[in-house]
Amino acid sequence: MKTGNVSYATFSGWVDPPADVRPALAGDLSCRIAVVGGGLGGMSTALRLTERGHDVVLLEGEFCGHGSSSRNAGQLAGAPGGDLQLLNLLFRRKMPGMVRLAEHAAHHVEDLIKTHGIDCDYEPVGNCFAAVSRGQLGRVRRVARILERAGGHVELGTSEELGIPRGFLGGMREVVGGMMNPGKFTLGVRRALLASSARVFEQTKVTDVARDDGRVVLTTPHGRVRAEKVVLATNAFAGEWDITPKHLSVPIWVAEAETEPIDRDRLAALGWTSRSGLVTQHAIMENYRLTPRNTIVFGVRRLERGTTYPLPRKTPDPALVAELAEAFATRFPALADVAVERAWGGWIAITPTMLPVAGQIGDSVFYSIACNGHGLAQAPYVGSLLADLIVDGKRPADLDVLWAREPKFPRPMMMSRLGLRAIWAIDRFNDRINGSRRNARRGAAQLTSPWR
Ligand SMILES: Cc1cc2nc3c(=O)[nH]c(=O)nc-3n(C[C@H](O)[C@H](O)[C@H](O)COP(=O)(O)OP(=O)(O)OC[C@H]3O[C@@H](n4cnc5c(N)ncnc54)[C@H](O)[C@@H]3O)c2cc1C
Repeated sequence: MKTGNVSYATFSGWVDPPADVRPALAGDLSCRIAVVGGGLGGMSTALRLTERGHDVVLLEGEFCGHGSSSRNAGQLAGAPGGDLQLLNLLFRRKMPGMVRLAEHAAHHVEDLIKTHGIDCDYEPVGNCFAAVSRGQLGRVRRVARILERAGGHVELGTSEELGIPRGFLGGMREVVGGMMNPGKFTLGVRRALLASSARVFEQTKVTDVARDDGRVVLTTPHGRVRAEKVVLATNAFAGEWDITPKHLSVPIWVAEAETEPIDRDRLAALGWTSRSGLVTQHAIMENYRLTPRNTIVFGVRRLERGTTYPLPRKTPDPALVAELAEAFATRFPALADVAVERAWGGWIAITPTMLPVAGQIGDSVFYSIACNGHGLAQAPYVGSLLADLIVDGKRPADLDVLWAREPKFPRPMMMSRLGLRAIWAIDRFNDRINGSRRNARRGAAQLTSPWR
């Protein structure tokens, strides 16, 4: 694969920044509820609060949609994120709640798209856990059993049965969810928010959150906001204030790349008839998806830990893009000559338990970190549930599973740079053993249906 002419973006490969960025807060004001962070999480909280007739101010450091919400792979998941075998081992009783949350979250986003008429190229084609080796097939089968037991809607099959490329042995489709252009979706939610009664201040970074006389005071460079309640929806940037619980999450940089447009006949020859998005079953996944511009977006494979705040603006490391391209050529040998056209990345938040988290500090500050790489569906859903909690004073049932009663979190041991490098090395070791390319071809020929 050619990687000599890649355009590296500091924002997203999906859309350009909005042309109508709102002015910064200048002066002091009061409101009933203030939301910090204008990603899908914060915007959905604010939008829902306005729908329910509340006075809302949203403060965003750059512009709404500047974070990972506009940068992700656009795979709207219908199942929880993380290592589901491990989560099932540690939190078995929570699995039904997590599965319900994940499916409801995907449907919530589908409703948002419809309600606000957002043109984001959404295709309700589901996403597949795709296996590149016999070992990964076994893992997929075990995960499918876990999800089914917990009430999830999934189907197993060979690559032919699932309509996914023949470079994969088979897998499991999450029936709920699909694919979209996440940049168009996020800017669509931003448009809906700007058209609502919410007072939105962009280019307004909150530098301090403090309690004062029964109110919460948010400090920004050119003014303060006094609010009765505050929602912190700053995702990977959550570690910036004293008020934020320690070890709530670890900021991790992940990257995506996109090919040049590919001839339709060559794409058709892949056998990717379902168009479902794909995630491999490595400990650190690879993801692949088609786009309406006849390209393939692919990424992750390496997690890079952020260690200093504020988190730096980054472009992907060319060595990582070359590694992703090499993996692409292994999974899609027939497209090994296609060039990578662009690459970008963003900061996600990984929680120590790998579970999404939402909670409350005292009676006036709420927060959510609904990410772990699955926030395209979960961040907006959890955001709107937080709004309902604030308005009704009663926690919606879907929040129970991720609610942190005590804001105390264990130190995330595996998320050190060394830990992440070790996980990456285990994946590469397994890839080598499996000789995934050869194995995939041989395996596909041998198997009619590995599931029966
Ligand atoms: C490359 C990549 C691929 C991904 N792929 C997928 C995928 O396919 N499917 C999926 O479900 N998820 C995916 N994710 C994860 C998903 O994008 C996130 O979980 C989700 O967008 C989180 O939304 P959010 O609103 O919590 O955070 P963000 O979108 O990051 O928003 C946080 C906002 O807070 C603002 N902010 C931060 N600090 C301050 C401050 N002090 N004052 C004011 N504003 C502040 C930021 O500027 C930002 O706009 C991916 C993420 C990345 C980066």
